[in-house]
Amino acid sequence: MFLKDRTALITGSTSGIGLAYARALAAEGANVVINGFGDADAIEKERAGIEVDFKVKARYSAANMMKPDEIAAMVAEAEKEFGAIDILVNNAGIQHVAPVDEFPIEKWDQIIAINLSSAFHTTRAALPKMKAKGWGRIINTASAHAFVASPFKSAYVSAKHGIAGFTKTVALEVATNGITVNAIAPGYVWTPLVEKQIPDTMKARNLTKEQVINDVLLLAQPTKEFVTVEQVAALAVFLCTDAAKSITGTTLPMDGGWTAA
Ligand code: NAD
Repeated sequence: MFLKDRTALITGSTSGIGLAYARALAAEGANVVINGFGDADAIEKERAGIEVDFKVKARYSAANMMKPDEIAAMVAEAEKEFGAIDILVNNAGIQHVAPVDEFPIEKWDQIIAINLSSAFHTTRAALPKMKAKGWGRIINTASAHAFVASPFKSAYVSAKHGIAGFTKTVALEVATNGITVNAIAPGYVWTPLVEKQIPDTMKARNLTKEQVINDVLLLAQPTKEFVTVEQVAALAVFLCTDAAKSITGTTLPMDGGWTAA
């Protein structure tokens, strides 16, 4: 329970990796603010479940990560209730798979806004209170696509390379403030985000579902296994420990060897 009395805000945490971060940080005693879209009853079940399972406060914000004013209001509300956001996890993300010359302009704009710009908006809003406390952890979910590319994912690869650069820059700016800033770069993790891109990849490459899983997704991953959301969340928890206080400005791969190849 080393995070008792700390507050974590995790964007995009109504499912997948984000929800696993929220539960893992709450398991160490942190109060959490979860965020994201989905069925209202299912979200309320997850929120209440965190409070029951871990005896912490869990709040939900419906802020849209495409909207800077909603992001600022989410941070202000969290700070009003908890004093400061000690752990900021920028995780919200979407994907779209299409050749660049057919890529819908509004999809490009959405991916850059949610996967990259929202981390700027949350960080600039949360940093003053973190600095005042002299302690903070900012953890961004990057991707193996922060290091390497795959065809048909131009917006996503651009946003994830951008997140790696943003992580380095903020880390340098707050290096003497007791705040570390890192990104985690998972390979393929079995979540709704991956499941949803299978039909588009089938279409773009003219493949069956099994071929997409084995010959496209896991082709890149030498372990031939999906990363689990629990493994990603455990790394985020480690980054919050004192043992990790000298790790800053990095993008840490957890990709089954993908980017070693
Ligand atoms: P997911 O679809 O399960 O979760 C995405 C979350 O973001 C959901 O809670 C969703 O409601 C939320 N979200 C989407 N648009 C939003 C918006 N406009 N405002 C607020 N919230 C919004 O996906 P996931 O796989 O858990 O992805 C989480 C992060 O991990 C993303 O940044 C993704 O790029 C990254 N990632 C995923 C994988 C993978 O293989 N699944 C690999 C590497 C990186």
